[in-house]
Amino acid sequence: MIIIKPHHLVDIITDFGAGITDPEPHPYGHAVHSVTREILANPDVELGMEWGADDICRPCRHNLEGLCDDVIDTSYRPAAPKSKREWNLLLDRRWSERLGLRPDERLTAREFCARLRDRAGDVSDIYRELPGDRIATRQANLELGVRKLLEKPAKA
Ligand code: SF4
Repeated sequence: MIIIKPHHLVDIITDFGAGITDPEPHPYGHAVHSVTREILANPDVELGMEWGADDICRPCRHNLEGLCDDVIDTSYRPAAPKSKREWNLLLDRRWSERLGLRPDERLTAREFCARLRDRAGDVSDIYRELPGDRIATRQANLELGVRKLLEKPAKA
């Protein structure tokens, strides 16, 4: 099972919609690349929803005993909190409310995508601190990523 924050999974699906299927390892040492690979190779992999440090954060250099000490670039989103931990929590709370997710809930990536298809709707409120053009790109890529992942055959 992969332990993952809702917004991390949304980002992976959004990147998939943008054509990113095999990201390079990040200098932070986090596990976006390996978790992306695992989910895209098997959309029926079981996931556990987590609001704190997840399997992506586990090897990250900014994960200090379960707490992220990183900051975000607020130059294009001045209303967002500088602390990445606070920003992440904001996004995870919004996504959880939108999708009806509970902490520790288990579901597959395909089931998560079906929920996105049925309940995500207009994401501009979730990313309200971002400029409109970035939200529009996210919306389009997310919708495409959801469609592509739902079309993936089950792993043989
Ligand atoms: S949220 Fe923080 S700890 Fe987790 S991967 Fe991102 S930078 Fe690293």
